[in-house]
Formats: sequence, structure tokens, C-alpha cells
Amino acid sequence: MIPSVLPTYARAPLHFEKGEGSWLIEQDGRRFLDLGSGIAVNALGHANPKLIAALTAQAGKVWHLSNLYEIPEQQALADKLVETTFADTVFFTNSGTEACELAVKMARKYHYEKGAPDRVEILTFHGAFHGRSSAAIAAVNTEKMVKGFGPLLPGFRQLPFGDLPAVKAAMSAQTAAIMIEPIQGEGGINAAPDGFLKELRALCDETGTLLIFDEVQCGVARTGRLFAHEWTGVTPDIMMVAKGIGGGFPLGAVLATENAAAGMTAGTHGSTYGGNPLGCAVGLAVMETVSDPVFLSEVNRKAGLFRQKLEGLVATHPGVFEEVRGQGLMLGLKCVAPNADVVKAGYSAEVITVPAADNVIRLLPALTITDDEIAEAVARLDKAALAVQTA
Ligand SMILES: *Cc1c(COP(=O)(O)O)cnc(C)c1O
Repeated sequence: MIPSVLPTYARAPLHFEKGEGSWLIEQDGRRFLDLGSGIAVNALGHANPKLIAALTAQAGKVWHLSNLYEIPEQQALADKLVETTFADTVFFTNSGTEACELAVKMARKYHYEKGAPDRVEILTFHGAFHGRSSAAIAAVNTEKMVKGFGPLLPGFRQLPFGDLPAVKAAMSAQTAAIMIEPIQGEGGINAAPDGFLKELRALCDETGTLLIFDEVQCGVARTGRLFAHEWTGVTPDIMMVAKGIGGGFPLGAVLATENAAAGMTAGTHGSTYGGNPLGCAVGLAVMETVSDPVFLSEVNRKAGLFRQKLEGLVATHPGVFEEVRGQGLMLGLKCVAPNADVVKAGYSAEVITVPAADNVIRLLPALTITDDEIAEAVARLDKAALAVQTA
């Protein structure tokens, strides 16, 4: 008999009842150190007092308003994003997938309005992840995601990640945009090679192609800059954001330059819940916290500490781990042992990690993790590694 919850996930038998900062408490009372953050979502930890205050204050005012009216919280969050990024304008969504949908639509509409309706193709990369809608699975086109779900939305082409000659060869009169995660998350914490985003920017500028960054996982201070692309010195035309920006409330956004967004006039796109007052009130509290330079420098300091300890862990367990990857608090451990075994041993050691492709486990702690919790995390990972080694 089919379970009452559609069984599209192979779930671990863990029932978390409560969260406190970097900790998740199981029904049976065990306290797990959470290095997953619901996959980079609970960026400010569980039950953050500032976010609770923002949510409950808004809950007492108004929960939902149609986008047929002005929404002050949405306006305030859009202003904050415009003030702190490359963007001139923002559309709010409920998820990263919906941000992908709009990014694709916006890029195609841009060229259509410029009199180039044939420019519809979007170049993407192997190892990418952009969501689970029909457009987002077509964008990535791996067998795991698309098998049985055809016909696929046309107009996407996948290229090797970091391969500039392949991108140059794939560019044509049909190319509308290049879509890329500055650091791939699901793909295994793969940073774009040095200079690659800069080269893509130059290529896009030469050809009138739009550059789309998917910062759904790597954005919102995760890497120690407000957005990961800031490390590279180049900006996109369109950027997808979600996960961390809501701190646990479902919230996403598409940020764009005035030029890239020019085709998106009244009636061309919409969402019932996108930009909902509850989500935007929380999102504003998140953005106010993470855009503070002191907060960002703390993320970088703690990332340095964590990384140094993880390098030690890898050196101690060469039969389990191969290397540390990533930037800031978006870290990966490339495993020698099967990553699923390491994640499972972590559960026994009461530490939560998240598997990724390429036999990697992801460490995406709350950005508010303390030095003591970092030391405890590495101690628990050490325990997990010992269990895997002797299994
Ligand atoms: C999670 C993720 C998405 C999809 O976001 P959802 O909120 O799950 O729809 C898209 N892109 C990247 C890079 C992601 O990590």
C-alpha cells in the first residue's frame, strides 16, 4: 500500500520535534548537531529570536495580500536587495524552482522584445541543479531527473562545468542565456574554476547573451559574501535566490538588472503567494542580519576555523575522506568511503550532514554556529569516520 506521504524521498528514521540554533532535538530526546540546515535554508539557525519576532509581529497584522495591491513588506525587502546587490528590480517566488522558471522566461522574453525571437537556448552545466519543475529538469537533463517525464521543455543544452572552449563552441545565434551556479551544491560543492565566471561575463557581453547565476544554495552569506559571485568581481544580469533568504520560511526571488527585466511588463508574470507579507517580513530580518559586514566577517572567521579542523579530520581518516571543498560555510567533504555510509554513521554520532553527487557530504551549518559547536561538529564527524573505517 502506498504511504500516505507520496514516497519520493528515502527518509531517514529521524523525527525532529524542535530546533534550537545549531541543534535539532529528536522525539526520543537525542540532540543532533545540525550541519545541514534543511539544505542551507535555516541560515540563522533554528528558532532564531529575531526571526520569530518578525514572523509573529507580521502574523498579528496581515498574513496574505494579493499582488493586486501594494505590499509594504515586499517593497522593503525588494529595496534592501536592490540596495545591497547588482540588481535594479526583484520578483518574489516561494521556492528556487519558481525562481528558475522566471529566470528562463525573463531571458527568452528579453530577446523576443529585442526582435530576436529565435534566441531561446539556455546553456547549462553538468552537475547543475535548478529545481524539479519541467523547465528545471530540462535545464539539467540527467536521466535520474527526466526519465519518464517527457516530453522535455526544449531549449537547453548542457556543457562540461568550467569548460570555456565548450561554451564558446556552443554559443550560436539561438543562445539566449548561460545559467550557472557559482558553486554547485547538489553537484558536490564544486566551485567554478578561477576566472571562469569572468570569462563567461566577457563572452555574454560580446554576444548580447544574458548571464544567469543560480545562487539558491550558495547565496545569502553562505560563502562569506552576501552573494557568492561577489568573490569573482563579476555580476550577472539575472540571479535566482531562495533557501537561506527565508531562514526557513518558503521564500525565493529573481533579481535582475533593469535591462534584463525590460520585457517583464504588467501581466507577463505572476504568483499568488510570491512576495507574501509573512515571507517578506522574515526575509527582511534575514537580509538585515546577514548584510551586516560584522556578520559576514564572522562567517569568514568561523569558516576558516572549521576548514582548518576539517583538513585535520581528512588527514586523520584518509580511508574515509579525500578532501575539503567549498567556500565559507558551504563546505563539502569528498569521501573515499560511500558518502551514504558516512551520513548514516553521522546519525549514530548525532551529527547531521547532507549527501551530494560526486560522493561528497555537504556541511551547511547555521551561519550563526559558534566556535564550540564547530569543535563539537568535528569531534562527532571524527566519531562517524572511525565507525565507517572499522565497519
Ligand atoms: C535547492 C535548489 C534549487 C531549487 O530550489 P527549491 O526551493 O527546492 O525549488 C535550485 N537551484 C539550486 C542551486 C538549489 O540548490
